[in-house]
Amino acid sequence: MSTLLLNPGPVTLSERVRRALLQPDLCHRESEYFDLQDEIRERLLQVYGLDPQSWASVLLTGSGTAAVEAMISTLVPSDGRLLVLENGVYGERISEMARRHTIAAEAMRVSWEAPIDLEGLRQRLATGAYSHVAVVHHETTTGRLNPLARVVEIAATTGTQVLVDGVSSFGGEAFDFSNPALAAVAGTGNKCLHGIPGAAFVMARRAALGAGAQRSLYLDLADWCRAQDQRGTPFTPSIPAYYALREALREFADEGGLSARHARFAALAEQVEQGLAQRGIRPLLPVCDSSVVLRAYYLPKGVSYARLHDHLKAQGFVIYAGQARLAQTLFRISTMGALSAADMQRLLDAFSQLLQARSTAA
Ligand SMILES: *Cc1c(COP(=O)(O)O)cnc(C)c1O
Repeated sequence: MSTLLLNPGPVTLSERVRRALLQPDLCHRESEYFDLQDEIRERLLQVYGLDPQSWASVLLTGSGTAAVEAMISTLVPSDGRLLVLENGVYGERISEMARRHTIAAEAMRVSWEAPIDLEGLRQRLATGAYSHVAVVHHETTTGRLNPLARVVEIAATTGTQVLVDGVSSFGGEAFDFSNPALAAVAGTGNKCLHGIPGAAFVMARRAALGAGAQRSLYLDLADWCRAQDQRGTPFTPSIPAYYALREALREFADEGGLSARHARFAALAEQVEQGLAQRGIRPLLPVCDSSVVLRAYYLPKGVSYARLHDHLKAQGFVIYAGQARLAQTLFRISTMGALSAADMQRLLDAFSQLLQARSTAA
C-alpha cells in the first residue's frame, strides 16, 4: 500500500490526476499550451463563480510562496502602506516579503495561539495610514481559520484593500469575493485543489492589477496577466504541473465543486478529531476556530513527535510536526488529498496500537 500524505501539501494524488502527468511534451509557444493555460484560468474563476470582467486569474510557475510574493510585491503601490496581520508563520513571512521589497509595512502581531484582534484592526485602519491589509485566511501553523469576512468588512469602512494568502484555503473554504475591499487572493495547485507543486496563482481584481508597482521581474503579476490575456506566457511554465492542475480542476467540478470539497474535508477532519478525542488526544483549537483543511493536536502524554511520526509512517501515513517551537507539544493532520473515511479509520487504528504499546510499556 502506498504512503498517504497527511501534511499540508503536497497532497496524495488521485489516480486520475497522476495519469494526467503523462501527456505529450509541449512547447509553451504552441496553441496546445495556450489551450491548457486558458482552461486552467477559466476553471479557477469558476471555483468561486468570479466574473472575468472584474477578476483576473493569473497563473504562475512556482510554489505557493511565489504567488503570495507576486501579490504583495505587485499590488501595493510605491506610495502605499501595508498592515500585516500576523498570528503564525505565514503572516510573519508576508512581513518579511514586505521588508525585502522595501514596502512600507507594519505588523499587528499576536501570539500563534491567539485570534486576530479585530477591534485593534479597526482602530489601526481608522488612522487612515494604510492603503492595504494582508491576512492569511487559513493559518496553517495552527489550523486556525482567520475571520476573513470580518477583516474585509472592517477594511471596507476605510477604503483599505485586502490581500489574502489563501494558499491553504482556496478550493476548501468559503470566500466572499463580492466585497470590493477584497483585492486579491493567492493560491496554489497542490493543496485544496489536489494538483502537484509548481503551479500557483493569484485571483486579482483587474483594477488592482493596474494600480500596483514594479518591484520584481519574475514575480510581476501585471506582466503575467497581460501575457496570459493575449494567449502568451512571459517565462517557461511547469507544463506537467499545469497538466495536473487542469485535471484536478476537472475532477473538482465533476465531484460537485466547492461545497462538495468543503463537506468532504469537514467530514474527514471531524472523523479524525472525534476518533482522536476517544483516544484522549486533544485539539489545539475549538472547532469553531478551525479550518476543515488541517488541525493541530497535543502530542499524547509520554509520546514524542519522532516516535509518533515513525510509528505512523511504518503504517503508511505521513503526519506533520508542529511548526518551530510548537514541535515539542503539537502535531498536525491535514485531510486534503485523495483520502477516504476508510483511510482515516486505519489511521485511528494505528494510533490505538501505539497508545496500547505505551500503556503496556508503562
Ligand atoms: C503552504 C502554505 C504557503 C506556501 O507554501 P509553499 O511551500 O511555498 O507552497 C503559504 N501560505 C500558507 C498559509 C500555506 O499553508
